[in-house]
Amino acid sequence: MENILLSNDESSKSEYKKTMNQTIDAICDTFDSDKAYSGPKPDELKKIIHQKTILPEHGLGWEETFRLTKEKVLPNLLRPSSVNYMPHLHSPCTIESLSSEAIISAFNQSMDSWDQSPVATEIECEVVNHLCRLYGFGESSSGVFTSGGSQSNETAIILARNWFCSKILNHDINKFGLPENFKRLRMYTSEISHFSMEKSAAILGLGYESVVKVPVDSKMRMDFKALSNLVENDIQKGNIPFLIVATIGTTDFGSIDPIEKIAELCKKHNIWLHSDTAYGSGVILSEKYKSRVSALNLSDSITVDFHKMFLLPISCSCVLAKDKSDFRSLTIHADYLNREEDEEEGYTNLVDKSIQTTRRFDALKVWMSFQERGKDGWNEIITKNMENALYLYKLVEQNPNFEAITEPEISSVVFRFCKDEKTEADKNRNDEINKSVRLELLHNHGIVIGQTIANNKVFLKFTLLNPLIEKEKLSELVNLIQKVCEK
Ligand SMILES: *Cc1c(COP(=O)(O)O)cnc(C)c1O
Repeated sequence: MENILLSNDESSKSEYKKTMNQTIDAICDTFDSDKAYSGPKPDELKKIIHQKTILPEHGLGWEETFRLTKEKVLPNLLRPSSVNYMPHLHSPCTIESLSSEAIISAFNQSMDSWDQSPVATEIECEVVNHLCRLYGFGESSSGVFTSGGSQSNETAIILARNWFCSKILNHDINKFGLPENFKRLRMYTSEISHFSMEKSAAILGLGYESVVKVPVDSKMRMDFKALSNLVENDIQKGNIPFLIVATIGTTDFGSIDPIEKIAELCKKHNIWLHSDTAYGSGVILSEKYKSRVSALNLSDSITVDFHKMFLLPISCSCVLAKDKSDFRSLTIHADYLNREEDEEEGYTNLVDKSIQTTRRFDALKVWMSFQERGKDGWNEIITKNMENALYLYKLVEQNPNFEAITEPEISSVVFRFCKDEKTEADKNRNDEINKSVRLELLHNHGIVIGQTIANNKVFLKFTLLNPLIEKEKLSELVNLIQKVCEK
């Protein structure tokens, strides 16, 4: 078996270089226009990629396989780095992070135990320490990288549930399972928070019913008065509030819940405060706007997503906790992997803090990208995206044919075409127009925008993460949308 693995053998190195150079050339050739998508619909794509079998009796070899990949896959891949891509919290990737990814896969470190990732473990620890300081946590804090915001949130909810059961109910949940009165446990989050809250509640045996949805105000922020009433009422009824999740950057609108007030309420009633900052975590690096998230240090735990505002490849996320001892409830020792004595001898096994076992060395991407760009580089990228959103909002605000939800606090703008809308029938007609403009742009213009529902109406959604988008681009886009809507 020749040249199957990259090793110290010279011929394996030249095979690797040839393969990677061909790959890089083909990737670059694919960027032949600024379109975000080549256009095919689902049926057409199914036809394009269908093979009689993907496991032939005899292998096709590299050249033929790569030819097929170049022909069928590459041209049809979505290009999130295009200036015409702005639907979701799905980011373009910085060039240096593509180098990180090549290193991560070439060496395939696994972050569960030190002996599978020596320097990688030390880098993750160092990155986590810096992140704890960046978000205002002290020396006794810690964190771990995860597969994404959903898993970061789930981890935080486990820590919160286990802390509460142990410290407040004096019940060892790891040993005995849920406490007898578990049906009374309640967590609170805004009605527009991420669905990973309900999903986690279900997975953790608490059920959807344990998640209390708090109304939002006209700016899409959690209504604090409503929250405190719900908590007080629940306590009176004998229910047990254990967690409040503040969203720092809601997925659709980028709105920011009032952390300071929520933190006071949590303190008063011994409730864990988790901040889902999957979206808003980048704001801390904008000199001009960082005060919007400066109260994050009042949280007990924080979700940070690097595959959103920080422009790093999927997956890259982190959960931080103010008190590192809370991670102990995720530790189980295995004789073959993470022996108890390892820790005393200075060998860190990160599996002790994670719900994953085998895990990627994603921390390298943060380590390299933070150093390469520094505070000033990141400030420029994040501030620009936030100001682009403000510009787009002002454009549609001034245009009577459009209705916008609220001034952006981060980098999302949500608006709809609302021309001549007086009756319910007009609204329904405009809902259909808004839906069709999204598909028209996707399939016929190579422009990808988002769509959501707010106040029972269909809205178009723009999530601006690409710092190469210029104001002219946004004006052109609004004009194009208006033209397509009026057609
Ligand atoms: C994106 C997002 C998540 C989920 O993060 P993934 O990385 O997609 O798992 C959770 N919360 C908020 C507010 C988000 O915007």
